Order: sequence, then C-alpha cells, then structure tokens
Amino acid sequence: MIELHDVNKWYGSYHALVDVTETIEKGEVVVVCGPSGSGKSTMIRTLNRLEPIQGGRILIDGHHIYGPDVNVNTLRSRIGFVFQQFNLFPHLSVLDNCALAPIQLRGLSRPQAEQRALALLDRVGLAHKAHAWPSELSGGQQQRVAIARALAMEPPLMLFDEPTSALDPEMVGEVLLVMRDLARDGMTMVCVTHEMGFAREVADRVLFMDEGRVLERATPGEFFTRPQHPRAQQFLSDIR
Ligand code: ATP
Ligand code: MG
Repeated sequence: MIELHDVNKWYGSYHALVDVTETIEKGEVVVVCGPSGSGKSTMIRTLNRLEPIQGGRILIDGHHIYGPDVNVNTLRSRIGFVFQQFNLFPHLSVLDNCALAPIQLRGLSRPQAEQRALALLDRVGLAHKAHAWPSELSGGQQQRVAIARALAMEPPLMLFDEPTSALDPEMVGEVLLVMRDLARDGMTMVCVTHEMGFAREVADRVLFMDEGRVLERATPGEFFTRPQHPRAQQFLSDIR
C-alpha cells in the first residue's frame, strides 16, 4: 500500500505538488491524468524517491521512503519504472537487457536470469527477439522490452509515466495490451497516461491533477460520465 500524506514539493519557488494526500491499495490500478505541467510526472517520481520533497510523508507498506535510513537503491529495485523513453541499454541484447539487473542486484546466476528473462519476453510477446539488439526493434517492441526488464526484478509496484506517448500510433495498442494483462494479473500500478480508453477499461481509479493538486479522484465510470470539478470537465471536453 502506498500512502501520500500532505506531500509538498517545490522546484525553487515553483510549488509543484500541493498537499497531495492519497492512498493506493495493493493490487489497485490508478491512472493519473491532467493537463501538461499539472505535476503528474513529479508526483509519480516522488514514489520512487526521484524527487526530493519538502513537506509531507510517503509510506510504502508502512515504510517512510524519504526516511534517513532508507536505502534508495533497494527501494528503487522494488519499484518498476517505465518512462516515455525506453532507455534500453543499446550495447546489450534484448535478453541481456532483461537479465542484467537480476544478476547484478539479486545475485541470480546467468542461466536463472536468462530463463526468467525469456519467460518475461514471452509474456510481452517478444521471446523471438531475445537475441536482437534494441536498435533492431520498433518503438512498441522496445517499450515492451522495457516493461519486461522492469518486471525481471519482480517489483510489487509498477509506475508508468506516459509509456505510449513517444510511440507511433499503430504501436500504442500493443503496449497497452501488455499493461492491461499486467493489471489483470493483480499488479499494483500507477500510470500517467493520456490514453483515456485504457483508463476507462483498466483503471480502478482515476486521479485528475491540475496545478500540483489532485482535484478529483473517482472510478473511471464516474470520472468519464460525471466529472465533478470544473477543471476536470474542461479537460475531458478538450481531449474529446
Ligand atoms: P506533462 O503532461 O507535460 O508531462 P506533468 O503533469 O508531468 O506534465 P511535471 O513534469 O510534473 O508535469 O511538471 C510540473 C511542473 O513543475 C511544471 O510546471 C514544470 O515546468 C515544473 N517542473 C518540472 N520539473 C522541473 C524541474 N526539474 N525544475 C523546475 N521546474 C520543474
Ligand atoms: Mg509528465
């Protein structure tokens, strides 16, 4: 379970997160949406301790992640993070991209790690590309490898920050399908995305952010049919 209590973040004098208080349950799929610059990336990055916060607390499974005794590398190794840019290691094969961290950080033997990597590549439909270089894959394929690579660390929580927005339109669907399957398997997921079809179909809850605040939290059914906040209504009418 993730708990944010009155989280506040400034970039210099800019107040990027304002009193964000939110609880995300284990197994929940939360989609975060809102206009550009509203603080979505900032919020999701705080969950991985990628952004220092100046006020409030964030707890994951009861552990205060900004506490002084937290090992940041251990924390991050337990949270999968998939970005807009896939950032695969260009000098490693697809298989090695997925096997490296479990070998280096979890002490798996190479055969164990490769076996696990192959199973995950199979899960994202790319076992046949295990020995390809990242540069030989399409954007959608690279992003699916990035998801498999994150899953190789068996994280209990996956964060996605606009994983499909750098993709050509015809490749968006294949990545969303992988994410949907992950959600159906019970993964706890926080996803920043503009894919409202995905939100509608897969999310348990939608958070709408504007100017650093969470202005609305609702089930997709409520959010898309009866948005309460005027900013949310405006946002939805703009993207339709
Ligand atoms: P987008 O949809 O465009 O990705 P976002 O909702 O993810 O937007 P953030 O990236 O979280 O927005 O940014 C929130 C605000 O904080 C923006 O006004 C942005 O300019 C500002 N900001 C983000 N990162 C920094 C930084 N490193 N230094 C200063 N300001 C920043
Ligand atoms: Mg962003």
